Amino acid sequence: MRRTIYTAEHESFREAFRAFLDREAVPNVEKWEQAGTPDRDFIVKAAENGYVGFEFDPRHGGLGIDDFRYNAVMTEEVVASGMAGDTFSMQNDIIVPYFRDFATDEQRDRWLPDFTSGRAVTALGMTEPGAGSDLAGITTSGRLDGDHLVVNGQKTFITSGATCDLAIVLVRTGERDGRGTTFVVAEHGTPGFERGRAMHKIGRKAQDTAELFFTDCRIPVANIVGEPGRGLSTAIRNLPRERLSIAVSGVASARHAIDLALQHTRDREAFGARLADLQAVRIALAEMHTDTLVLQSYVDRCVEALNQGDLRADEAAGAKYQATELQWTVLDRVLQLFGGYGYMEEYPIARMWRDARIQRIYGGANEVMKDLVGRTLVGS
Ligand SMILES: Cc1cc2nc3c(=O)[nH]c(=O)nc-3n(C[C@H](O)[C@H](O)[C@H](O)COP(=O)(O)OP(=O)(O)OC[C@H]3O[C@@H](n4cnc5c(N)ncnc54)[C@H](O)[C@@H]3O)c2cc1C
Repeated sequence: MRRTIYTAEHESFREAFRAFLDREAVPNVEKWEQAGTPDRDFIVKAAENGYVGFEFDPRHGGLGIDDFRYNAVMTEEVVASGMAGDTFSMQNDIIVPYFRDFATDEQRDRWLPDFTSGRAVTALGMTEPGAGSDLAGITTSGRLDGDHLVVNGQKTFITSGATCDLAIVLVRTGERDGRGTTFVVAEHGTPGFERGRAMHKIGRKAQDTAELFFTDCRIPVANIVGEPGRGLSTAIRNLPRERLSIAVSGVASARHAIDLALQHTRDREAFGARLADLQAVRIALAEMHTDTLVLQSYVDRCVEALNQGDLRADEAAGAKYQATELQWTVLDRVLQLFGGYGYMEEYPIARMWRDARIQRIYGGANEVMKDLVGRTLVGS
């Protein structure tokens, strides 16, 4: 079925971005997996080509493009390249709205030129060892002292945490009453702010994930992003976009896996015929293909709704859990169709499978997403 959300401009953008990834990313994926992070050079090159922070105003180095379809195209191509890096989704899909919608002009002048040139890699630090799904329970504190916040505490599982130059961090500045949390930007090099080492993960190895430590770290109040005391409200405003980004990658990953399965089952022979000639295999392919097509339409519709400014939190949560559950089911079935080869690192399906597991956990665990949808339905 032909998808209708993209125009010719999106498709030519896709071709250019795909060529960029083929040239600059695909040959290096193995190296980045060993290093645990992509090269900074790669991010700078991506930025030079307009792939980082393109939504920002041209005076800050952006292209002034406010159309999430371009973000979706990039996500789909990153998935198809086998890169499984989170650089673009983190910078473009997740961080951008914090600066675009909540930073002051002075802050944008200060940080965005480095962001859009790839000189500043950013991270978003919300999760703590004692508070993940229940973010209202964070304890990293930000005590006001003159014109500084004195920050103490620890964040964990932070994407780009080991390499970030700027971390947007959620800290407790008041009671647990909806008015007690604040986002503040910690700059690498500020005394009392330490980035941890990259954590050992079972997948997404080309992307660093780390702890952040704060010990009497004095951060100017000029670095507060959004309304003080309303950090969680700011996060809640941005989470539907983050969850949609995960949904886009989930469906793209399922589609790519089905393409791999088609190729493999046409090539591989067993019992005197192609695997694809076995009816059980064809039924598996048909189910995966149709389920993915159906979900693609819903996710495309969510992208349009986001562009129109009316994507609801429950709609994005539904897209996130449905797409990542489908992704997991499809990838596992496709790996099965590859037999023992699917378990070998050199086969792309193996890496896709282990990289996919986290999708049902981060951005809000799928159980939490279902609860959000359910509470919206019953009005609680
Ligand atoms: C690779 C990776 C990258 C990440 N990147 C970031 C990042 O950049 N920034 C950041 O701030 N965080 C990040 N995270 C953290 C991630 O968002 C959290 O791990 C996630 O929100 C779950 O929190 P938790 O791990 O504390 O699990 P918990 O909150 O302890 O939950 C554990 C499990 O309990 C169940 N559960 C919890 N609450 C409910 C509920 N209400 N109803 C039903 N079941 C429930 C779910 O099954 C859940 O998976 C990352 C994590 C990983 C692994």
